[in-house]
Amino acid sequence: MPQQYEIRCVICGTPVSAPIAKLEDLRLLNEEYGSPYVPRGYFVTSNGNYSPGTEGCLIVNLEVLCSSKLHNDQGRLNGCCGLDGCDGINTMCINGHEIGTECSDCWMPHRFDFDPKLVELIKVY
Ligand SMILES: [Zn+2]
Repeated sequence: MPQQYEIRCVICGTPVSAPIAKLEDLRLLNEEYGSPYVPRGYFVTSNGNYSPGTEGCLIVNLEVLCSSKLHNDQGRLNGCCGLDGCDGINTMCINGHEIGTECSDCWMPHRFDFDPKLVELIKVY
């Protein structure tokens, strides 16, 4: 079993992801609109170039997110069928600290981008 990690809010330490492993085989990434970009249970680090998101962000499947809630600024929550993530960070930990951006609209692969300045990647078992 590959090394498992979890992501925690850097301010309050709340775990905001299920256990995840680094995705080694990048052929498993899925660029199809409306489908998960990263397989469940994995993360990839954006290089800010050919991968989506800003450089250094930790990209995960939306299903690994936990103990989080939508941003209280409605202006961050735009989208067509989901959230387009184009207006900045749109998700907070359960205690109200910004953690990252959900991108779940119909015209993009679905993913969640954790901002590396707002979360910590912690080794677990
Ligand atoms: Zn927090």
